[in-house]
Amino acid sequence: MNRDTSKSLFDRAKQVIPGGVNSPVRAFRAVGGNPLFMQRAKGAYLFDEDGNRFIDMINSWGPMILGHANEVVEEAVKKALEGSPSFGAPTRREVEMAELVCSLVPSIEQVRMVNSGTEATMAAIRVARGYTGRDKIIKMEGCYHGHADSFLIAAGSGAMTFGVPDSPGVTKGVANDTLTAPFNNLAAVEKILDENKDNVAALILEPVVGNMGCVLPNENYLQGLRKLCTQHGVVLIFDEVMTGFRLSIGGAQQLFGVEPDMTTLGKIVGGGLPVGAYGGRKEIMNCVSPAGPVYQAGTLSGNPLAMAAGKALLTYLKENPSVYININQAGTSLAEGLRAQIKEFGIKASVNQIGSMFTLFFTDEHVADYDSAKKADTTVFGIYFQHMLEQGVYMAPSQFEAMFISNCIDKNITGDILSASYNALKSIS
Ligand code: PLP
Repeated sequence: MNRDTSKSLFDRAKQVIPGGVNSPVRAFRAVGGNPLFMQRAKGAYLFDEDGNRFIDMINSWGPMILGHANEVVEEAVKKALEGSPSFGAPTRREVEMAELVCSLVPSIEQVRMVNSGTEATMAAIRVARGYTGRDKIIKMEGCYHGHADSFLIAAGSGAMTFGVPDSPGVTKGVANDTLTAPFNNLAAVEKILDENKDNVAALILEPVVGNMGCVLPNENYLQGLRKLCTQHGVVLIFDEVMTGFRLSIGGAQQLFGVEPDMTTLGKIVGGGLPVGAYGGRKEIMNCVSPAGPVYQAGTLSGNPLAMAAGKALLTYLKENPSVYININQAGTSLAEGLRAQIKEFGIKASVNQIGSMFTLFFTDEHVADYDSAKKADTTVFGIYFQHMLEQGVYMAPSQFEAMFISNCIDKNITGDILSASYNALKSIS
């Protein structure tokens, strides 16, 4: 496979962009080789600058749930462009978008649009602090909530991939206000809450983790957290940037039947444009300026193009529940197929999957938290990744990420992915 154009673009990029990329994991550091520079995409496929075609297993890290260059979203954005890319004043689309989000996500009564998942989580904890008058937050080891200072403590995703879960540049003062507990461990959270009585403003977690690879909550874990937060007056925040509108139209909270006090959204909510959102109970959201004293603002928040894309996508998902049947079935087929291959070749690996999210971990231990995820053999993952890439399957370039399936997947594509994986695992075994 010729990758010369990508290589020369990467050489140029490294001169003018730190590490040659605008987000760290894209650099392929964890898997070796040079990153591929993409030129266009359609449906289930990506096409790079050298004209190679790849089945896309990342889908822009989640947003492209209908696949690339979807007509519904494209038409909505084109129409919005006929107005102006930005007014900096309220618009009808923002109202309609907020109404849509509030109607779809069970626990959201009011919502504020921002421009990224990071902005959403950053604002949500500020609001929780303003609402409770407390300073500390609890996060789970290996969860990633964007790159704001408070969250770069035992963080997942790229921070975990690059071995920098605690970033330089975060002050000790900020770090001291973030308490961490292992995922799936209720007793640890209970202990922290007992030791920090009346000091914890919020507990934030990914209800299903995507950022240490895909990790599912144990039975009654989310219910247990809900109970503890209510008992201790702590604002429970579900970070549904990945799971929102993916695991079901109402996200993980709908799937598991647990309502948080606040929810953060990103990715799918913007239909591929830069959008984040945070919302929750009216009583809490009423703290947000100008309704209340907690300040949060944004020049491009509620941007007309982004609102048009998000609204078109969410409306399509609401009207076409078959999308979830298709992507969930594909997720299950892939997971079952991979498990059968692992067994056949006797490879030390396991698969975590829920709906259209999954990760193949190169450890035979069941991955349920940060410590078990870290046992995965990242060198073997890198070899597997390169074999898959060479056969035209573009996976997340890190062991500690989830794959996301789009609705463009069908039996043929599932078959192509599984046969590439068969060859890759055979050569590893
Ligand atoms: N929260 C979760 C669960 C995420 O997965 C991410 C990004 O991957 C974020 C927050 C940050 O979102 P963004 O990259 O849009 O800032």
